[in-house]
Amino acid sequence: SPARSPARSLRVIALANQKGGVGKTTTAINLGTALAAIGERVLVIDLDPQGNASTGLGIDRRNRRVSTYHVMAGDAPLSQAVVPTAVPRLSVAPSTMDLLGLELELASAPDRAHRLRNILAGVGEPGSGTADVTYVLIDCPPSLNLLTINALAAADAVLVPLQCEFFALEGLSQLLRTVEQVRAALNPRLAIQGIVLTMFDPRNNLSAQVVADVRGFMGEKVYETMIPRNVRVSEAPSHGKPVLLYDLKCAGAQAYLRLASEVIQREGRVPVAA
Ligand code: ADP
Ligand code: MG
Repeated sequence: SPARSPARSLRVIALANQKGGVGKTTTAINLGTALAAIGERVLVIDLDPQGNASTGLGIDRRNRRVSTYHVMAGDAPLSQAVVPTAVPRLSVAPSTMDLLGLELELASAPDRAHRLRNILAGVGEPGSGTADVTYVLIDCPPSLNLLTINALAAADAVLVPLQCEFFALEGLSQLLRTVEQVRAALNPRLAIQGIVLTMFDPRNNLSAQVVADVRGFMGEKVYETMIPRNVRVSEAPSHGKPVLLYDLKCAGAQAYLRLASEVIQREGRVPVAA
């Protein structure tokens, strides 16, 4: 892939939107799979106590003995939480409900906003157990809480899934303000990778109107690729599979492959921080 820094080829992307049900987890799973399919080595960090990314990637609850909770709490190194998936080159650090308690535990810690950044500093380094990882995708919870702040503080870029529905733009301004605040206070290199429109329904006039509004408001930040509403995409997680393994030919899987190549293209244009 183009224009990678030889010093540090790792890129960290946070998938964030404080609204639930907009496609963050679906995008983490399937963009991650698509990036792996084109040769990247991807680590998905499940930072949502719901653990849907872990489940959707086929990680049984019994295989979450060490989870992102333990890693964030400082009880275990990241390498101990990382488990392989059925997708070659794609691994995941799973989460459990324990993460719900982390916010309270972190509240008085001086490094509370930088925990994840410090943890990820070791990824991609020799001997870290994650030496060959080129992309970290962080699946954020549906909230602008301390977990999401940790993700934004650790990320090179944020990728925002936006559902094609009437209230899509409501909430986006607040998210963009939070990104600004994190950039000013915690992480000056934080970029916006892009906004991906999800669950697009071409037969729905409202969907088309939302697309026009969002593109008018956010311009080139919005990817050309839209993820269509597709029943195969919503079925795949119950089989513990990314849609690219479940039904590679379906419109949803093909859209995630196109999104991956747009993401890679944009990464090439972003100056990579040393
Ligand atoms: P979030 O992580 O933002 O809460 P999810 O990725 O869990 O959102 O998606 C919410 C629901 O919508 C899930 O049931 C998921 O299967 C479904 N979904 C997501 N994207 C699509 C799509 N392109 N087509 C159909 N269903 C989808
Ligand atoms: Mg989710």
